[in-house]
Amino acid sequence: MKKHNYSAGPCILPQEVFEKAAQAVLNFNNSGLSILEISHRSADFVAVMEEARNLALELLGLEGKGYQALFLQGGASLEFLRVPQNLMQENGKAAYLDSGTWANSAIKEAKAFGETIVVGSSKEANYTFIPKEYTIPSDANYFHCTSNNTIFGTQMKSFPQTSVPVVCDMSSDIFSRSLDFSKFDIIYAGAQKNMGPAGVTLVVIKEEVLGKTGRNIPNILNYQQHIAKESMYNTPPVFAVYTSLLTLQWLKSKGGIAVIEKENEAKAALLYTEIDRNPLFKGAANKEDRSIMNATFLLADENHKETFDKMWKAAGISGINGHRSVGGYRASMYNALPIESVQVLVNVMKELENEI
Ligand SMILES: *Cc1c(COP(=O)(O)O)cnc(C)c1O
Repeated sequence: MKKHNYSAGPCILPQEVFEKAAQAVLNFNNSGLSILEISHRSADFVAVMEEARNLALELLGLEGKGYQALFLQGGASLEFLRVPQNLMQENGKAAYLDSGTWANSAIKEAKAFGETIVVGSSKEANYTFIPKEYTIPSDANYFHCTSNNTIFGTQMKSFPQTSVPVVCDMSSDIFSRSLDFSKFDIIYAGAQKNMGPAGVTLVVIKEEVLGKTGRNIPNILNYQQHIAKESMYNTPPVFAVYTSLLTLQWLKSKGGIAVIEKENEAKAALLYTEIDRNPLFKGAANKEDRSIMNATFLLADENHKETFDKMWKAAGISGINGHRSVGGYRASMYNALPIESVQVLVNVMKELENEI
């Protein structure tokens, strides 16, 4: 039986995506060949890459606005390095918001390229909130933030007005909510949180911000090279790109981001209402910063852990153990998680209350 999969990443994808991807492994587009054995230069795959790049921009409302979408390798973690390398000028500086473990990793990589100013941090509070009162130096080459903090369950509800280019790690909430994406100059996201399987990263770039560093960038790390080669500088991860395309097609057929956003809000409201109502549980993150993707919560009394764990496992729930740095539980409610799965979890929480 299919589990109620709350895994933080790699994560649940739509059932029809699994089925179409499985079919393509056996016989892609009725070609008599598997997607796993065709050339990335074949007409069939070139069309996949082109559609995936265009559809990503279309869903974000960025078509015809000077943006390029790339499907790259190395995970969001490589973008932590590629961003400063491609945007920070020689002797320049960059501003970073330290809102979680991933933001912190991005900061560490930036330091290898130049002055890295941390404009705000919630590290001392174990990242339970999003830092809000901060100033971005007007001479920074860019400002970097993390829209959704996957581990701590916090999410930026607004983004600063600034004259400097804005770079955002949207790994765990891309395509989940409506934003004015044209406010961002670079958006990147590892596919495995909300878009596809592991192995590919979507990078959306406003082309005009590139080419200003004065540094020599190796081709494989150079965004301009990847743009010139239409995201085929080297062999792309064919299957991960194709599966991501299937997920984007699924999202479009549902009505796009505006429709999925409503579903995501309903799922999050259902779970947070129970976390706040049920005296056996408490939320881990600051209320106003709560993520609609990753809900972190704790048992009020750790003695109930064994009973609760048994109950949710018996209910077919998988993947809700919290990250070791927060403890407790984390329910990742990505786009493909049905609201029925959230109802199952909420029912188990209510049952625990009845049992104790
Ligand atoms: C998971 C995650 C990453 C790391 O992604 P990789 O693809 O494993 O490199 C970076 N940022 C955020 C916000 C994440 O959730």
